[in-house]
Amino acid sequence: MKKFSALTEIQSRLANSELNLPDLLAYYFEQIEKNQHLNAFNEVFFHSAKLQAAAVQEKLAKGNAGKLAGMVIGIKDNICYQDHQVSASSKMLENFVSPYSSTVVNRLLQEDAIIIGRLNCDEFAMGGSNETSYFGVVKNAVDNERVAGGSSGGSAVAVQADMCLATLGTDTGGSVRQPAAFCGCIGFKPTYGRISRYGVIAYASSFDQVGTLTSSVTDAALLLEVLSGVDDNDSTVANISVPSYSEHLSQGEKKKIAVLKETIENDALDPEIKTAIEASIEKLKAQGHEINYVSFDLLAYLVPAYYVLTTAEASSNLSRYDGVHYGYRNTQAESLNVLYKQSRAEGFGEEVKRRILLGTFVLSAGYYDAYYQKAQQVRRLIREKVEALLAENDFLLSPVTPTPAFKIGENIQDPLVMYMADIYTVLASLAGIPAVALPLGNNSEGLPLSVQLMTKHFNEQGLLNLSYSFLNEV
Ligand code: GLN
Repeated sequence: MKKFSALTEIQSRLANSELNLPDLLAYYFEQIEKNQHLNAFNEVFFHSAKLQAAAVQEKLAKGNAGKLAGMVIGIKDNICYQDHQVSASSKMLENFVSPYSSTVVNRLLQEDAIIIGRLNCDEFAMGGSNETSYFGVVKNAVDNERVAGGSSGGSAVAVQADMCLATLGTDTGGSVRQPAAFCGCIGFKPTYGRISRYGVIAYASSFDQVGTLTSSVTDAALLLEVLSGVDDNDSTVANISVPSYSEHLSQGEKKKIAVLKETIENDALDPEIKTAIEASIEKLKAQGHEINYVSFDLLAYLVPAYYVLTTAEASSNLSRYDGVHYGYRNTQAESLNVLYKQSRAEGFGEEVKRRILLGTFVLSAGYYDAYYQKAQQVRRLIREKVEALLAENDFLLSPVTPTPAFKIGENIQDPLVMYMADIYTVLASLAGIPAVALPLGNNSEGLPLSVQLMTKHFNEQGLLNLSYSFLNEV
């Protein structure tokens, strides 16, 4: 079977009976089997996926199948699916079975998607290389010595190596966009408040957002329209109507695109990424868009503000893993205090502990004003600056990452190097705006390159349209 890059291709083959869902699913199972060495899946849902394939095939015969009939999708292992395990790639939640489904899973199933399995990620989504997972590193399919990116590394490689059509990831500071960039897929992070977080294991609640990894803009649009919109179980979802994004994909409108100068004129930026981005700017110009080079002078504050705020939120969110309510529990402890301490000491990995400690520190009396409160103020400044730029321009453009996929083990010993690599993605997360990573082909070593586009809050349609025309997906 050849690789499908959009659901429309699958649906037209299903419609004229050249393909059926059990066969399609068997194909993806084979692909997973062949690519086991990449370590993308924490678990394949053989049983429930087969049942769903048979049920949807029947609906297709009756003509009452949903929008996502034919979509075989993987979910990051921090998204709850009733009666299935969910681990956040942590020892803390190893063997934990979710008693309920997240809103995003319910919405996928309502539209007849088939959920094929749960995907490896950094532990509790903390990381940018998938090296902090308790279940081992995910390897990049184009070079097995290199990382897939993170934290949604499994989600990116599953699409890259054709183990399913699309995947869900979560993006707190780049975890959908950065692995998409490292693996040559389209990584879409919507506006904070577009998609419900109910049933998504929390890392930093004022940043976390579900996003998609796909091979086509059309699939990103379709998934977004299914997943978005108000939810009684998450009051942070905006009560703003959800357009049928996929039906309104269009091209031709001329837009104003602001290139963030400092992100490109930066010594740390890989020269081949720079060249590819310059070429993408030329392409946008040739497509008739207006390009403005603008200054973004807050670049140096992005990573510090992001890591103060997200670790603070993480330290609070992760306090629930106490050895009593969920998951891992030390069995030797003779007092409650020791039980808490030992369970947490043994259940969490190094990076998660580092962040809990950092978060507790920035929130502690005496340091709260200097770190946490200051970072909140900086976040406000960043948001205001972004809004001012987006009042004059329709889109912002920057790299996604300073380098292409790096070698496994190259950065993991140095948390600062790792954190600094998030410099371009955390901007959209701090401001809460939608952003997409779009593939730009490969560098001289065959590694994927990527460009990032961002836009105003809730202008997902505009961002999808620009992506669609930029990639000539017509
Ligand atoms: N690399 C970033 C971090 O470690 C982003 C993670 C994410 O978006 N979940 O926090």
